[in-house]
Amino acid sequence: MYEDILTKIINHPDSVTLEEVAFVLSNDQLTPKLFAKADEVRRKYLGTEVFLRGIIEFSNYCSNNCLYCGIRAQNTNVRRYRMTSDEIVERARIINEQDIKTVVLQSGEDPFYTKDMLGHVISAIKSLGLTITLSLGERSFNEYSYWKALGADRYLMRHETADEELYEKLHPGDRFENRKAHLLELKRLGYEVGAGSMVGLPGQDDFSLAKDILFTYELDADMIGIGPFIPHPETPLKNAVAGTLEKTLKMVALTRLFLPDANIPATTALGSIHPQGRQMALKCGANVIMPNFTPSPYRAQYALYPNKICIMESDTACGECTKALVRTAGYTVSQSHGYRRRRMREQL
Ligand code: SF4
Repeated sequence: MYEDILTKIINHPDSVTLEEVAFVLSNDQLTPKLFAKADEVRRKYLGTEVFLRGIIEFSNYCSNNCLYCGIRAQNTNVRRYRMTSDEIVERARIINEQDIKTVVLQSGEDPFYTKDMLGHVISAIKSLGLTITLSLGERSFNEYSYWKALGADRYLMRHETADEELYEKLHPGDRFENRKAHLLELKRLGYEVGAGSMVGLPGQDDFSLAKDILFTYELDADMIGIGPFIPHPETPLKNAVAGTLEKTLKMVALTRLFLPDANIPATTALGSIHPQGRQMALKCGANVIMPNFTPSPYRAQYALYPNKICIMESDTACGECTKALVRTAGYTVSQSHGYRRRRMREQL
């Protein structure tokens, strides 16, 4: 039955039920078969290439209070920082010099950066010939449209959980329907859109996780970032149990079967709960890594969760380090800008 479901996901994903996805998630004995299938699908559609995206976490101010997040507004123990426009563009230049073609601009939801300020940053980075992913949280539809017109290529906004009730508990004052409306608007505007979820949240079960996978499939997300929940000691969820490596890898692998040509990162959070976490993710379907280019001293202050890796390294070391990681895992570093290359679904 397990293998029949995997075949059905690969060949007829529209007919797969929530119960079937949850069943695969709940089974531990046959997980190696799932991982092998995910790697087979990944190699068939994407070869061995891994895309690198240099991330700049330019502000850790946030007006929100997501219950799991270390930089939530109510955490007064965070030393807050904001990079200037010149500092951000300078880091993009360094990313370009390391032959990495995509820059991810990430921050908390920080209205200090206006539409025009970010517009200038986007124009300056585009003039370097780089591809830009924005990851700024929920902003106005008008801003999304303006930044797209200036050349922003992608927008990354994880949905975190597609379980509506859980979403509302974790995000005070926000609703899942609202998050979904933002993602749909970004798609309509022509961005490559990234969604994604957290694994192991308190109150989440295999059915909730199955909803996450079906949601990203229905959205036809271009990128899907999946990481384990890691309790931060200065949040209301400090005593909750963390998500596991195994369950997160299963989510990565299943997502690869549903979306064979999408871009799926081996997330930093996976590398933070296990020293080989990112390599393992590459071997079960992931095809993207996001080396950190946030400069010191800011890097250590962008702590969404504790024990994040790569915060003590020299602030330009992550590019070469992740290239070496990709090669030693048996994959190749892509020289391309890493757009999603859509392919017709093939029977396997
Ligand atoms: S998860 Fe994002 S939006 Fe929520 S508090 Fe953290 S930085 Fe802000």
